[in-house]
Amino acid sequence: MFNLILFGPPGAGKGTHSIRLMDQYGLVHISTGDIFRAEITNKTELGTKAKAFMDKGELVPDEIVLGMLFSVMDRFNDAKGFVFDGFPRTIVQAEKFEEMLEVRKMPITLVISLDVDDEELIRRLVKRGLESGRTDDTEEIIRQRLNVYNKQTKPLLDFYTKKKLLHSIHGLGTIDDIFNNICKKIDFI
Ligand code: AMP
Repeated sequence: MFNLILFGPPGAGKGTHSIRLMDQYGLVHISTGDIFRAEITNKTELGTKAKAFMDKGELVPDEIVLGMLFSVMDRFNDAKGFVFDGFPRTIVQAEKFEEMLEVRKMPITLVISLDVDDEELIRRLVKRGLESGRTDDTEEIIRQRLNVYNKQTKPLLDFYTKKKLLHSIHGLGTIDDIFNNICKKIDFI
């Protein structure tokens, strides 16, 4: 079983590359952000709860994210592997996730971090907001999301480095070049 975490700040390209990885390696793509947005569109109770945090650029509380993730994963018992996009985002999420994976005997194979500097991230996200209408892609909320990333999510780099799972990839350049670099790391494993 191949379980990949695609890690990086908002705007690093996690979504774009996850979709390609899903096609290339036959993995199930789990994006917690996409799941929350679908719940919001469907006006579910979970969507309403998540929206209150997402609109402010804050993280949805760990227990909500974890409950949602575990129930989604239960739907894919026969998957040959997963690509996790936007999860985990806190140390608590990473620890609970690890416990859950241990029980299911499906360890994390690799964590790939896409490195992009803040000014480039802001430029990309403002552009995405204009094109897609995503309500959390406005400059004020983007800056808040980057603050939250630096405080709550970035410590995971150290967490996964210590576990010898982390590989960093330069996230600037053409999408094809970055994707090829990701594939090289995966194929090397
Ligand atoms: P994303 O599409 O990954 O950029 O996520 C959009 C928003 O959804 C984030 O700014 C958070 O509010 C929320 N979100 C997505 N994934 C998580 C997660 N793993 N933990 C907490 N909040 C999340």
